Amino acid sequence: MTYTKFCQTPRGLRPVITFVGCCNSGKSSLINALTKQKVSIVSEVSGTTTDAVMKAFELVPFGPVILYDTAGLDDTSPLGEKRIKATMKILEKSNLVVLVCAEKGVSQTDKDVITFLQQKKKNFIVVFNKNDSLNFSQKDILFCEKNNIPFIKLSAKQDVSSLYQFLGDYIKPEPSNLFETYLNKEDIVVLVAPIDESAPKGRLILPQVQAIREILDAHATAFIAQPSELKNLLKCLNKKPRLIVSDSQALKQVAQSVSDIPLTTFSVLMASLKGDLTVFNKGAEQLDELQDGDRVLICESCSHKICSDDIAQVKLPKAILKYTNRKIIFEYTHGSDFPDNPAKYKLLIHCGACMFNREEMMSRIQKCLKANVPITNFGLVISKLNHIHLTDIR
Ligand code: SF4
Repeated sequence: MTYTKFCQTPRGLRPVITFVGCCNSGKSSLINALTKQKVSIVSEVSGTTTDAVMKAFELVPFGPVILYDTAGLDDTSPLGEKRIKATMKILEKSNLVVLVCAEKGVSQTDKDVITFLQQKKKNFIVVFNKNDSLNFSQKDILFCEKNNIPFIKLSAKQDVSSLYQFLGDYIKPEPSNLFETYLNKEDIVVLVAPIDESAPKGRLILPQVQAIREILDAHATAFIAQPSELKNLLKCLNKKPRLIVSDSQALKQVAQSVSDIPLTTFSVLMASLKGDLTVFNKGAEQLDELQDGDRVLICESCSHKICSDDIAQVKLPKAILKYTNRKIIFEYTHGSDFPDNPAKYKLLIHCGACMFNREEMMSRIQKCLKANVPITNFGLVISKLNHIHLTDIR
């Protein structure tokens, strides 16, 4: 029963711990010992782990996490370069990076990764593995001490019990509270969730589920309706709701039905949780600066069937063309696809990214800021296009 509960924690709410290091440093053995499962294939053959392996895991006493095992950083096989690039992408969404060192000590390759992690301001630790058979040089230990890098010596073959607490001590937790301190006991919150062609069959999407759970945690009450039933629901309530949270797609319709109740969207709640609302608000202003021929990139963090009234590929572009009256070129990405350098775009519009952790979303924001490309969010764009004021609840 406990196992089921932990398995159900969505990926977007789990911090990511990534094990990196040179080939044969024992990354896979460490993960297998930690999880007490054969997550990765282990062998003496250098470079056994080719593509990254992911495992959802309950890290006692910390909580649910995602573990990544990665290919060796010194992989010289024909596909090595691609694998290292894939590893670097995983590092960007990592809340904690575990650099595993063995026979080579802290190699030059390891030092290059350390520089990358320091530049990206990532939490990382060093594990000196195979402590049962290797004597790590004083030079390597001093290197860690001088650079304030936490390290631990152990052997995946013998005992990794000290690693659980060590990981827990250094991992950066994922923020998880959509409403922060906004809700009080006995508040009523109305959620508006259109069940249209693009809604997943037989279930609600993660931001809706997350909101309901947090409302219950606050001892407030959640009501949920489709846009067409909203007016009727409000008529039935004998107390004014504290807040309405709408799906971005239904925002215009909802705003027309209510004028005296604070209003926000799931997308904006997610933007505050996973992104940077100040950056996104500024990014939305760029809609007024777009010119003919400008490129706008619309990004969704999950893949789904594109339907005739798709928010990302149909409704948003149509509404932006109408608002700007410019000939804008739209491009789209889904899931983990994202340009390394988004400089060719004049604006980037992102979904609520409920499937991502904050580290991944923030790395996208950083890429945009570095390339001087404004970035905003679906909910903020829709509110601007429709001149709807949203309540800032944080
Ligand atoms: S499009 Fe974005 S916000 Fe919507 S369900 Fe997918 S990941 Fe979540």
